[in-house]
Amino acid sequence: MTDTLTPVLTANWGDDRSWTLEAYEARGGYATLGKAFAAEPDAIISMVKDSGLRGRGGAGFPTGMKWGFIPQDNPNPKYLVVNADESEPGTCKDIPLMMASPHTLVEGVILSSYAIRAHHAFIYVRGEVTHVIRRLQHAVAEAYLAGHLGKDIHGSGYDLDLVVHAGAGAYICGEETALLDSLEGRRGQPRLRPPFPAVAGLYASPTVINNVESIASVPSIVANGPEWFSSMGTERSKGFGIFSLSGHVNHPGQYEAPLGITLRELIDLAGGMRDGNRLKFWTPGGSSTGILTDEHLDVPLDFESVAAAGSMLGTRALQLFDETTCVVRATLRWTEFYKHESCGKCTPCREGTWWLVQSLRKLEQGEGTEADLEVILDQCDNILGRSFCALADGAVGPITSSIQYFRDEYVAHLTHGGCPIDPAASALFA
Ligand code: NAD
Repeated sequence: MTDTLTPVLTANWGDDRSWTLEAYEARGGYATLGKAFAAEPDAIISMVKDSGLRGRGGAGFPTGMKWGFIPQDNPNPKYLVVNADESEPGTCKDIPLMMASPHTLVEGVILSSYAIRAHHAFIYVRGEVTHVIRRLQHAVAEAYLAGHLGKDIHGSGYDLDLVVHAGAGAYICGEETALLDSLEGRRGQPRLRPPFPAVAGLYASPTVINNVESIASVPSIVANGPEWFSSMGTERSKGFGIFSLSGHVNHPGQYEAPLGITLRELIDLAGGMRDGNRLKFWTPGGSSTGILTDEHLDVPLDFESVAAAGSMLGTRALQLFDETTCVVRATLRWTEFYKHESCGKCTPCREGTWWLVQSLRKLEQGEGTEADLEVILDQCDNILGRSFCALADGAVGPITSSIQYFRDEYVAHLTHGGCPIDPAASALFA
């Protein structure tokens, strides 16, 4: 547990020119390249393994282990793909990171590509964020001009090309195999795993796909050593991460802290709850992780502790809702999102999310009986674990957890004939 922030990725965000190559290099940017090229690629993989870095895109898979899965005896090219298709409701850390510090990501791409012996890398960005796409393209162009990318980088003999690829605005394209289909020019829909991308990914070749924040963490690990990184965090959730606070808190924003910090500590750092109101419910890592309540304020925000509390750390997208919020309406809103974004490939997700919206909408309007809650839970049970990818599992999370913690509020909608909370007080959902 800690009460201090650890600005590493966010260290230069206060500088309004932080995104330029000049400002980045003035702070020591790209200095790790010489150190890395003097070492064998496997040494970089070992550093990342030893650091304990786990994927920052939500699942927390060990990054170095993923890199180690790349079969070096496969004659096909190896690829590195950065998943910058951040779209999970509440998740908003990668976009400010790419805006403020695109060169941290580019430096991370170079180090990571060198480690897995890739000569082509891609950053797949969601299509709606044109300002981020432009910023990345500018940074990549600057990096080429400075000789950090291209042929024989700084006389090392190592070649790397980096392409910024814009998606077309589909949540499913953040799912790694749908992202690969999209990158190959097809309609983005998930592929069956295994094989995992590490074995057969882009163009059926060995591919590492990592989240923006994971790759952006690599330069600091190479610069400061794995022990520096693993000295922060908890026993099994090492290092630091960006915690995104949004909703009914006085100072929403990005708080970079060691894993294991609690929501109570983060709320203090963020100036407390809006209007001194009480926290009612919150998501630890975007809506797909489901909700927790004020009982969980002291749960350390690391992978193991949040799982033990019945949820997932996910993307550390902490959406905070105070007592003026209707949990049924919030849940309905999230479910509408998942229904809209279902790619339609598999029946449990395509049909199931549609039925969930119908059932929840009825309850939110105060229609039906308490038995309908059991029908919804049965629908959830028939979806969970039966869909092609994690999208439908994520859709179920907020529903089952909100019924678990706020069953009375669902029932109150039925007895009241609609929402019992004064809509005028519920600003977020008015
Ligand atoms: P996952 O646990 O199935 O896989 C995580 C990563 O580990 C993947 O890259 C996968 O290829 C790799 N992996 C797992 N087992 C492997 C093996 N045996 N061999 C080789 N590689 C292996 O999780 P997922 O389905 O990729 O992602 C789900 C997560 O995505 C959720 O935890 C959620 O929090 C997160 N998510 C994030 C966003 C966002 O906007 N950032 C959006 C939706 C979901």
